[in-house]
Amino acid sequence: MTFLRLLFRNRLAGFGAIVLALILLLVLLVPVLPLQAPDVTNTANRFQPVFSDGHLLGTDHLGRDLLSRLLHGTRLSLAVGFAAALIAASIGSAIGITAGYFGGTTDNIFMRTIDMLMAFPYILLALAIVAALGPGLVNALIAVAVVNIPFFARNIRGITVGLASREFVDAARLAGMGHFKIITRELLPNVLPVIVIAMSTTIGWMILETAGLSFLGLGSQPPQADLGSMLGEARSALITNPHTSVVPGVMIFLIVMSINLLGDGVRDALDPRLRSGALSRPLPRTIVKRLDKPAPRIDTSDVLRLEALKTEFHVGKRTYHAVNHVSLRVRPGECLGIIGESGSGKSVTALSVMGLVASPPGVITGGAVRYRGQDIIDAPYGDLRQMRGENVAYIFQDPLATLHPLYKIGKQLREAIQVHHKVSDAEAEKRALDLMRQVRIPNPANRLDVYPHEMSGGMRQRVSIAMALANEPDVIIADEPTTALDVTVQAQILSLLDQLRRERDVAIIFITHDFGVVAQLCDRVTVMYGGRIVEEGTTGDVLDAPRHPYTKRLIDCVPELGGGKRELAAIPGLPPAVDDLPPGCAFAPRCDKARDECKQHDVALREDGDRAFRCLFPEGDTA
Ligand code: ADP
Ligand code: MG
Repeated sequence: MTFLRLLFRNRLAGFGAIVLALILLLVLLVPVLPLQAPDVTNTANRFQPVFSDGHLLGTDHLGRDLLSRLLHGTRLSLAVGFAAALIAASIGSAIGITAGYFGGTTDNIFMRTIDMLMAFPYILLALAIVAALGPGLVNALIAVAVVNIPFFARNIRGITVGLASREFVDAARLAGMGHFKIITRELLPNVLPVIVIAMSTTIGWMILETAGLSFLGLGSQPPQADLGSMLGEARSALITNPHTSVVPGVMIFLIVMSINLLGDGVRDALDPRLRSGALSRPLPRTIVKRLDKPAPRIDTSDVLRLEALKTEFHVGKRTYHAVNHVSLRVRPGECLGIIGESGSGKSVTALSVMGLVASPPGVITGGAVRYRGQDIIDAPYGDLRQMRGENVAYIFQDPLATLHPLYKIGKQLREAIQVHHKVSDAEAEKRALDLMRQVRIPNPANRLDVYPHEMSGGMRQRVSIAMALANEPDVIIADEPTTALDVTVQAQILSLLDQLRRERDVAIIFITHDFGVVAQLCDRVTVMYGGRIVEEGTTGDVLDAPRHPYTKRLIDCVPELGGGKRELAAIPGLPPAVDDLPPGCAFAPRCDKARDECKQHDVALREDGDRAFRCLFPEGDTA
């Protein structure tokens, strides 16, 4: 159902589907329609014009009814085209999947044979096959199928090679599955959409090719009609009686056009990336539909300030309140930690700042983001783009995913510099080298000349930091930059970030789920849960006397070296789904101190200077 909805959202594809359905319906009804016999000649009645008595589309050079021949011919052409596509797809995909899965010699033998087929010009090969087998519709079908096999084989092999080295195939092997089972159960379902897509975009071609062979007299033999042979027979009367050519010509046009339009639509609707969202790729910035907008304020003591920011995901009928009235601020040179379990909305908060939340489905529905006092949420896209990297830079968790795998480190650094500064390559190179030194990469000149995969995880993350520093931003947002690193490297990266912010007075928003990291680096910390802030304060205050039970539990989760055999307190239960939040405190279902009041009404954030918490019965209260 979703498939059809997506398909029809693409108007042209819907149009193609309707035209093709009408043609198919007509063709299926041929046996019951009151048509004249297609092959009975009546030379006295030849070349009757369109709309003449008894012949809606006129007659051809032998006086045969064109309407009847057209429908019979279309039926035949479609059947041959579809059959050829099916055969080519089955054989080609079988070859491709086998070659891709087994690799090595099997791959070589199959693919070199395919290469040989591809070395011949396409139509010449088809002609040669028909010449060898003799003219006839079945032979034309075989020829068209054979020349299309390489297309499927190559496509499917490419995809299979990628899949065959994936972990789920290894897992199937470890589970003792045989080759045949792995191919049919593990690989085939993954390549099937690709096969369908390739078919839907090539059927039109195959119908044209069959028609071409028939046009040359090598396909269907007289008196049998197919669209190609009808065109071929009408050729001699092209000038004197054009309707005999126009009728089959228009039909070929309609069929191929509708199949191609539909094929495009099918491809889009089956593409998983497009299917998950709408039929459009994410916009360059997050959509903003603000219902409430905080009053402007002149206060430039903070570099960055979020005020009651709300970011939601609208997926179908559901609304995910990923960021729910979040207010934060960072002063120049300050490090603010944002901490919370996975799914608590930390990343979405960070991405909302520069309008980087994928839209659709993301929408910013309220609040403000002020950079040096100025609301940038609905700044023009050009201004926002200018600010990305130049004023606010990001560092993400996995540098292997954020660095381009095919460019050398030096080139990527130069690019980061040249996006915002018109400097020569030599000058950019000099700055890149300087940046590499600043992030304490040993032997920087040589390292500029390596690819990301040649570096260790820690070095790669240093490169990301260097890229973030490239344009001297005022704020760096680091989204779990050390989560993928081992502990010693993590400590190095943390101390590097700490030094850099002191040297350059750059503010850091550091996202993590580890209170140990917060304690090392951050001046202040904000605790998020279910898209909301539940506690806030200077790191020392929060660590010494957490007020929200959630914060206390998070702190208790950090193991202490040499701290005796303290029992590590895991938090029972799971974080809430943000599309269906409970009334009252979101943490109440997991809180051992929760009382009835907690579950009834929204709990307000209690603020007192730098300190704030959202709890009715905070830790440390004796009552
Ligand atoms: P984290 O705190 O682990 O960084 P995120 O900010 O990535 O969490 O996600 C917060 C919530 O936003 C998640 O619980 C998820 O339900 C929701 N979310 C994130 N991305 C999407 C999306 N593309 N579509 C729907 N919901 C999303
Ligand atoms: Mg995250």
